[in-house]
Amino acid sequence: MKKIIIYFSLFLVLTCLFSGCGSKETIVLEGNSLEEFGSSDKVVIIVLDGFASRYLDYLDQDSNLFNLLEYSTYNLDAKTIYPSHTCNAHVSLMTGLYPDHHGVIGNVYYDQTDYISQKNIYAERIEAKTLFEIAKENSRKTAIVSGKKNMLTLFKNGCDLQTTMVQHPDYIKKAPSSKDSQNNKEYFKYNLKTTTWVFNALQAVLSKDSPDVTLVNIHSADYIGHRFGPDSKEVEKIVKLIDKNIGELFSFMKKSGMLEDTSVMILADHGMSSVSKAIPLNVLLANNFNKAAGIVDGRNAYVWLNGENEAKVVSFLQKQNGVKKITSKGSIQAKDLKVDCERCPDLILDSKPGYLFIPEALLGKYQGMHGSTEDTDLSIPIICFGKGIPQKKQMKEAKIIDLVPIVSQLMGFEGYEFDGRIPELVEEKKINYFTR
Ligand SMILES: [Zn+2]
Repeated sequence: MKKIIIYFSLFLVLTCLFSGCGSKETIVLEGNSLEEFGSSDKVVIIVLDGFASRYLDYLDQDSNLFNLLEYSTYNLDAKTIYPSHTCNAHVSLMTGLYPDHHGVIGNVYYDQTDYISQKNIYAERIEAKTLFEIAKENSRKTAIVSGKKNMLTLFKNGCDLQTTMVQHPDYIKKAPSSKDSQNNKEYFKYNLKTTTWVFNALQAVLSKDSPDVTLVNIHSADYIGHRFGPDSKEVEKIVKLIDKNIGELFSFMKKSGMLEDTSVMILADHGMSSVSKAIPLNVLLANNFNKAAGIVDGRNAYVWLNGENEAKVVSFLQKQNGVKKITSKGSIQAKDLKVDCERCPDLILDSKPGYLFIPEALLGKYQGMHGSTEDTDLSIPIICFGKGIPQKKQMKEAKIIDLVPIVSQLMGFEGYEFDGRIPELVEEKKINYFTR
């Protein structure tokens, strides 16, 4: 009988391990009577990459994240910037500015000296001060713990301590490696393991190095959303695993007393939409124009005319299957979308729902993509709790660019200007935001 129980328990543990199922922690915090954001000694910003607002539908009301709301100031339908991509959204998050003020538009840009597509992953691309640089001016210690290694190069200025799966302090154990990332099963398992690795690395960094401002990137909801699509079982499992890890992080921070001097912000950089159809932009341009150059960025494409007639190119592209809208540099639309600056491409294209800009041959790699102005791509949760954070409050309207103003208020960083502002706080109302 004993043996059977042991085997059964083992079976349960293994099932949990491989399915990435959620588990509940006891989420309780001391009450506070704050009406507005107060002050905090330390801040941890956790970006759940690609964690669309509607992913919260995968969690039940008794999940760790939903239980946390009781002690939080939050908006589960906040907005990221356009184009809704990782690099420029993180830069907006870290500068409090829209893309037209920090100069980073999209994940990629066209290098006009080399005529090639380049990634926006270098600190030199950011034409503004980041939260890390502001923290250093105020003599605070900064750290980054990231599942995506590109975050290190993007935010290296002002960053004291850097942790990724390939580069980390000796006290953190080696990251899991992937045998075959092309194999879907392997890739999924690898992402389950690395999610927990990053959360564990964060716990280690917080207890050993005690940074004042920490930026965290949890990569897996994004990677799994791209590979399997936002409506997949795999995304559901990764969301539940992230919830489990957030619960464990909460318990760890509470037990160690960290929540008495630290505020935690959990948010996403962008959402995720289902895609299944390709717009082969480069072939279309190459076959029809001599000078215009285009690069693709998920549900967006960027075109530099290089002397080609704009009206001709626009009229041609508008007729292509899957092209939804075209924004010209200098137009009112570009100004409204906060992308009109020197670095703005001559044209920014958005795809219709279900489409992405990609060569047909690569289509099989993606079932999820983002970048557009649709809510599936733009809506993100923002949840703040801990020291200096009012409880049971909602931010009336909240944007990704509001994070740095909030952090600056909490940490007492004064004299900086942002496009974002401290959101108006209202009493909590139970609203059902999402239908997936
Ligand atoms: Zn992202």
